Formats: sequence, C-alpha cells, structure tokens
Amino acid sequence: MENSDAALLEKIQRLKKERNAVFLAHNYELGEIQDIADFVGDCLEMCQEAAKTEADVIVCCGVQFLAETMAILRPDKTVLLPDLNADCPMANMITVSRLKELKKEHPGATVVAYIKSPAAVKVEADICCATENAIRIVEKIPAGKEIIFVPDQYMGSYVTAQTGRDMILWPGYCNTHLRIQPRDINRLKSQYPRAKVVVHPECRPEVIALADAVLGTSGIVRFARESDATEFIIGTEIGILHRLRKENPEKRFFAASEDAVCHRMKMIRLETILWTLENMTHPVKVPDRIARKVRPCIEQMLEA
Ligand code: SF4
Repeated sequence: MENSDAALLEKIQRLKKERNAVFLAHNYELGEIQDIADFVGDCLEMCQEAAKTEADVIVCCGVQFLAETMAILRPDKTVLLPDLNADCPMANMITVSRLKELKKEHPGATVVAYIKSPAAVKVEADICCATENAIRIVEKIPAGKEIIFVPDQYMGSYVTAQTGRDMILWPGYCNTHLRIQPRDINRLKSQYPRAKVVVHPECRPEVIALADAVLGTSGIVRFARESDATEFIIGTEIGILHRLRKENPEKRFFAASEDAVCHRMKMIRLETILWTLENMTHPVKVPDRIARKVRPCIEQMLEA
C-alpha cells in the first residue's frame, strides 16, 4: 500500500470513529470501498442493516434511492451520500405524473414499486419489493387483481415469467445490465464449458434464457459459495467480482461482459468518503409527508 493511501485510510478510520459512523456498501461498489465497509450486500440487505444500526451516521456507499430509503427508515440518524451524482439512471426513468395517469387508466390495480425508484414514486405504490423478494411479493397479490410494476420492465417480465401474473410494466431498464449480450455468454461458455452461468434478473430475457441460475446479487454470492462448481460466468455489474473472488479464492469468476459497469455506483471513492466525514456532506433528507407515507411499505418489504 502506498503511504498516501495508508494516510487516507487512517484519516477515514479516525473520522469514522469520531462521528460514530457505519459504512454500508453495495456489492457493485469499487473493491477499495467494499474493503473498508462494515457491511457489503444488496439493496435489501443494506436497508436491513440501516434499519438496525446503532451508529449515529450512516454513510451510504451506493446510490440516491438507497440513501433515500435509509433516510426514510431512520429519521433519527444522519444518512450521508458521499456523492450526490451517484444517482440510478433507471430510478429516474419514471415520473410521478405519468404514474398517476397510469393509475387512473387502471383503477383498482395494485402498484408494485421496485426498490430502485425514487421516494416520490414509492408514495404512489401499494407495495415495495427488492430483487430478492419480488416474486414472493407478487405471488401474494390476490388473483385477478391488475398489477402495475415499476420501473424496470426486465425485472417485471422476469417476475411475470416466474409467477404467471400478467403485469403492466413501466418501460424502464438498467442500462448496465442491458450491456450484457447473449453473444458474450455464448463466447464464454465455449471458452469455459464447465462454468455455471449466473445472471441478474435485470438482464434481457435472451441472456436469462442462457443461465443456469437467475439471482439477485446476494443470491449470486450464496450460489458461488455453496456450489460445487469451480468456474462461474457472472452476468451482473462487475463490482461483485471483487467480493466473489475474495470470498472464494479457490474458484474462478468471469464477468459476462466487462462493459457491465455502473458508473454511478463507482462514484463513491475513498476521497469522497473522507470529504463526507470531514464536512458531513451530503445529508439525504426525505420530506416528512413522503417519509411517513412510504415507511410502512418499506418496512413490509424488509420483512417479506
Ligand atoms: Fe441503477 Fe443499474 Fe446502476 Fe443499479 S446497476 S444503480 S439499477 S443503473
């Protein structure tokens, strides 16, 4: 380690202690961020950790919708997002006004909001879900009820395929997962014929059709740990390879596509964490009237 890195890490750790802060990081974060985090996981797990932390300050090493969800769950804490530009493009593909119109066109429909949506959109939803529990949650909606699923059409179509429930899908998408193409998987499969192909449900259906398993990031981590296989082709954002390799040094992991990089997740850096702790920037606050309305929905999602 360079002296400058060591000095930076030392400053971060000193300030972290002084502020009584906890670092919660997503599986897609840079390796150096994952390495200093108190917890690394998927969106649902990060929010579950935030819900029970005793720290005074939560440093959200993720994107805006995650920091917002944490702020809703913990109005008693200071939630900091080290870079306000860390914002999920898919979460911004939906507008409240158009969702309201859609609800009017389908009165009586149950609106399911994927966690990757802004708080103002979640206000319009009946239920929130994450990758890990979307299928379970949709299965519980009474048969015959219309369902509107927002904002990821690919996650929605995967849930439809698994549950048989027809849903009205918002036309949003994760541009990181869409960069993974069937030809990428086929090329790697011919190179590593024994490798298991594990992909995220936000991938396009043609990619999902080539997979041995379709899982969210925590599911991918479990699958890699528990599988007897020693080689894996991983179809999700490439940040997760750091954790997979670290936890399974005897196994080999190949990114389905090196282009599957979420630049918004990568905006959190050691320097921005240091500045955040020094200046207590940027506190994420959700207006009270929104937080009060959305909190029960999010709490249910954490337990589903
Ligand atoms: Fe949004 Fe996709 Fe990036 Fe996740 S990986 S933050 S869904 S753009």
